[in-house]
Amino acid sequence: MIKQLFGSLVAVSALLGAASLAEARTLNVVASFGVLADVVKNVGGDNVNVVSLVPTGGDPHEFEPTPADARNLSGADLVFVSGFGFEGWIDRLVGASGYKGEPVVVSDGIAARQMEEDGETVTDPHVWNSAANVGIWIANIEKALAEADPEDSSAFRANAERYGKEVADLDAYAKKAVAAVPEDRRKVLTSHDALGYFGREYGVTFLSPVGISTEAEASAGDVAQLIDQIKAEQVKVYFFESSNDSRLVRQIADATGAEPGGELYVEALSPADGPAPTYLTMFKHNVDLLVAGMNK
Ligand SMILES: [Zn+2]
Repeated sequence: MIKQLFGSLVAVSALLGAASLAEARTLNVVASFGVLADVVKNVGGDNVNVVSLVPTGGDPHEFEPTPADARNLSGADLVFVSGFGFEGWIDRLVGASGYKGEPVVVSDGIAARQMEEDGETVTDPHVWNSAANVGIWIANIEKALAEADPEDSSAFRANAERYGKEVADLDAYAKKAVAAVPEDRRKVLTSHDALGYFGREYGVTFLSPVGISTEAEASAGDVAQLIDQIKAEQVKVYFFESSNDSRLVRQIADATGAEPGGELYVEALSPADGPAPTYLTMFKHNVDLLVAGMNK
């Protein structure tokens, strides 16, 4: 009798074990670049494995996918991109990989910032440099994860709420910190035009020699015009970007007398032991550095 009872308990617990295994599905997820991969990790928690295509510190504009990236994509349950033309290389990569789905565009629903570049109207893709926009990313990511893995939807919702609150707190932090800088000092020089959404959200004017893609080249005329503008508007501080060439911005700074403000992380996280290994630390690092530079 006891042996029988024990036997049926084992059978029941084996069944329960099988059921909970079926529920605890782990999604294999690919994100286009490190900033997005970090946000997806925070929303997905233990129920996702996230791989970033652009490696840590890499320049997403100049990324060249490899066969290993195509293999990662072909085995993925979901692929996340920021969108607005940021990942110019993604369509070819998806085609080459045999991945069956459509990449999830997390910037859907964000008010796009248009700008003039060489006489053409282009969309600025660097949406995450406004923390308010990342709140929209989080909602889109949660929705896509819950559709792919409905059993874990309550976990995704809880993660999105907790993490969304941290991002909203940072947004409020940035608004307050920038508002404390006198308005005529809120002008800085950076390498390429990656901080337009930051400028729009928090009220800072950014000038840069290169356009929204680091692949563009500034002409001698563009540079001369920018130098005049920096002098006329009395821009006093310039910043390097972690993921791209700083020679041109340094040259312009020398010609105008602008002072270095430090290194911003605008589209790549730092390694784990650096100042910006996550989106939250990256954003706060940039706010603190920009505010300190403008207050100099
Ligand atoms: Zn960029």
